[in-house]
Amino acid sequence: MAKPLEYNATLVGREDLTSALAIFKIKSDDPVSSFIPGQYVTLGMNNEEKPELGSVRRPMSIVSAPEEGDVLEFYIRYVNWPESDNPLTHLIWKAKEGDRMFMRAKAVGRFTIPEAIGDGDPRLKIFVAAGTGMAPFVSMIRSEMLRNPDVDLSSYCVLHGASYPADLGYREEMEALCKSNGLHYFASISRPQSAPEWEGDKGRVEDYFLPDRFIELESRLGFGPGELTSERGVIFICGLQGTIGETIARTVSRGFVGDNRKLRRDLEVPDDVPASLFYEQYDNTPVIDPDDTELRDRMKAEMRQALGLT
Ligand SMILES: Cc1cc2nc3c(=O)[nH]c(=O)nc-3n(C[C@H](O)[C@H](O)[C@H](O)COP(=O)(O)OP(=O)(O)OC[C@H]3O[C@@H](n4cnc5c(N)ncnc54)[C@H](O)[C@@H]3O)c2cc1C
Repeated sequence: MAKPLEYNATLVGREDLTSALAIFKIKSDDPVSSFIPGQYVTLGMNNEEKPELGSVRRPMSIVSAPEEGDVLEFYIRYVNWPESDNPLTHLIWKAKEGDRMFMRAKAVGRFTIPEAIGDGDPRLKIFVAAGTGMAPFVSMIRSEMLRNPDVDLSSYCVLHGASYPADLGYREEMEALCKSNGLHYFASISRPQSAPEWEGDKGRVEDYFLPDRFIELESRLGFGPGELTSERGVIFICGLQGTIGETIARTVSRGFVGDNRKLRRDLEVPDDVPASLFYEQYDNTPVIDPDDTELRDRMKAEMRQALGLT
């Protein structure tokens, strides 16, 4: 049993978007160390109702930008079928403004633009977000805006997928930035039968990379068919295994190479080929099934052809 946590932070704001999706604003007692957009902190709570279960901590991506100050924002999903017997989301869902909790005030993580590709890379940055996977991308874009409100965001393309329209958190903020700063933002819902009023894209977010849909996406972004390769774009994915694995498998034919040592080894990517696809995974399932040799061989062949290695 994890020992009780000493609380050092206060919930100062909460907005429930649906019964299972909420934005939490948390202020640490100690100043938060500076962070880079895309990083995460650890949140924790003690189980007061069942003290025998002890405490639980979980990593959470920061939604707010470093320029926003000491209150950190989080976009959290209540997990209906958790894996543990003391799930954090079930405890934090009971929290109300003014309640205390634990937050490690040091942000960590390598899922950042400077760490992945360095600042100033002119390629299109394609952000693929499944559900709460929007969190790090909102931080990256807000930070750009806060540093320069007139910044040209046309080198960013945000693809957000969710089950229902109400689950598309931050949609209004992103749509406003399309108009004011040239951001590309496309949202897709996977259960359109429950939302007949929805006129936007349909399907899971990784479906933007199905062969026909990829060409359509390229056209929306001003590329000709097949032009959006790893020479002209970089992919960042955040969410659960399904989205990450499918996006990797569907984009390897364009030369997008994942930043993962095992995947590179399995696909025999030469050392001098830089990574052009980065991901932050919220669950623990291997992104590509290690026993699926057929998939691995197909990906290997597509990657070699895309990179001109055959
Ligand atoms: C670096 C990092 C950053 C993260 N940032 C966020 C974030 O910003 N927002 C957020 O909601 N979660 C985030 N997570 C997931 C979070 O850490 C927990 O795993 C999640 O909140 C469930 O914890 P739990 O204790 O309630 O459930 P557990 O008992 O730990 O159950 C874990 C299971 O919940 C499912 N799950 C985990 N996260 C999600 C999710 N976001 N949506 C749907 N199902 C999920 C997975 O199947 C996972 O195996 C992040 C994870 C990592 C590794």
